[in-house]
Amino acid sequence: MSDTRQLYEQVIIDHNKKPRNFKALEGARSCEGYNPLCGDQFTIYVKLDGDVIEEVSFTGAGCAISKSAASVMTTVVKGKTVAEARELFRRFHTMVTSPLEKDADTEGLGKLRVFSGVREFPVRIKCATLPWHTLAGALEEKAEAVSTE
Ligand code: ZN
Repeated sequence: MSDTRQLYEQVIIDHNKKPRNFKALEGARSCEGYNPLCGDQFTIYVKLDGDVIEEVSFTGAGCAISKSAASVMTTVVKGKTVAEARELFRRFHTMVTSPLEKDADTEGLGKLRVFSGVREFPVRIKCATLPWHTLAGALEEKAEAVSTE
């Protein structure tokens, strides 16, 4: 295993054990998200100041990948505009679904690149993207829950 790979795994383990922004937010927009294939189930909360994501948090339970993906996501989108957060999701999605024979395009992804290894495990891709789909649902003030299926 490469050093980079080990470092990435440590970040995922750390965020799974000690998730950041793991709480409900009073008076925030929220959305529930489910990944029935794995049993991941989260609620994402988001507060906007104009077009800027002022606060973002989550509650729920799931596998190590989904939980750490939600935790890392909250740390990177806080302070970003809604458009910047959508662009990050687009890049993140491209990274985790890109073909294995090419190097993953991690440009501009910063800490999110720790999930680049997910593309080797197709069933885990939905775990990693669930928090992002759910955040998009919260931003759009979707009344119904988001599901990966
Ligand atoms: Zn999962």
